Amino acid sequence: PRLHVEADLRAGLVLPLERAQAGYLLTVLRKAEGDRVHLFNGRDGEWRAEIRPNGRKSADLALIEQTRPQPAPADLHYLFAPLKTGRLDYMAQKAVEMGAGLICPVFTRYTQGERLKLDRLRANAIEAAEQCGILAIPEIAEPARLPEALDALEPGRLLVFCDEDAAVADPVAALRAAADPASPPPLAVLVGPEGGFSPDEGERIAGRPATVALSLGPRILRADTAAVAVLALVQAVLGD
Ligand code: SAM
Repeated sequence: PRLHVEADLRAGLVLPLERAQAGYLLTVLRKAEGDRVHLFNGRDGEWRAEIRPNGRKSADLALIEQTRPQPAPADLHYLFAPLKTGRLDYMAQKAVEMGAGLICPVFTRYTQGERLKLDRLRANAIEAAEQCGILAIPEIAEPARLPEALDALEPGRLLVFCDEDAAVADPVAALRAAADPASPPPLAVLVGPEGGFSPDEGERIAGRPATVALSLGPRILRADTAAVAVLALVQAVLGD
């Protein structure tokens, strides 16, 4: 199993496990003394540790050695208009699983999400990183309004804009035409809110030079469905 911890990781360290993590390891996974666990904190790579139960319900983890170095974070920027909390948790986790390295909440005219809880977004990013086996935990950017979010993108970063009104018959061809799969540029993906983008937002986005609007088919997808679809497409055509 792989567990996220906040502590710095170095050889010889013995970490007391939090109650919930001890419960998970000892009760759910029925791990015992001497069993191995992999730890990561998002900064020091992956470490192998051994379980040292101390008392019935808790355990320590004795760090043995680093098993994977800390990788560079993924470079894909995922820009999204916040949704209602339940769907937002799902969308944040899927963005991490699908390769986002920076998660950027963008407030648009029709955004309906309640007040955004950034610590909840970060907890979702950590949980998804544990589950999908990545060591560089995606960063959660400060929420921005759409114009600021667009201005914050480097000019050379290709923005893949999910637009259900885009007259794009072949999104794969459109993506290939906008970026050379052999040496793809830095990428950003933008998915709108439940209410879609306003017309002037659509123009503002399409007016950005390095932007490609993609239709993901004839049906209107929920924003969290569109997120998975477009990230899968981008990874398939331009993935690392
Ligand atoms: N305008 C939609 C409507 O009329 O119901 C509402 C927006 S849709 C629920 C949420 C977002 O998902 C859109 O802003 C767009 O970014 C993306 N999306 C949904 N369906 C799509 C499609 N077929 N192609 C591309 N993007 C889509």
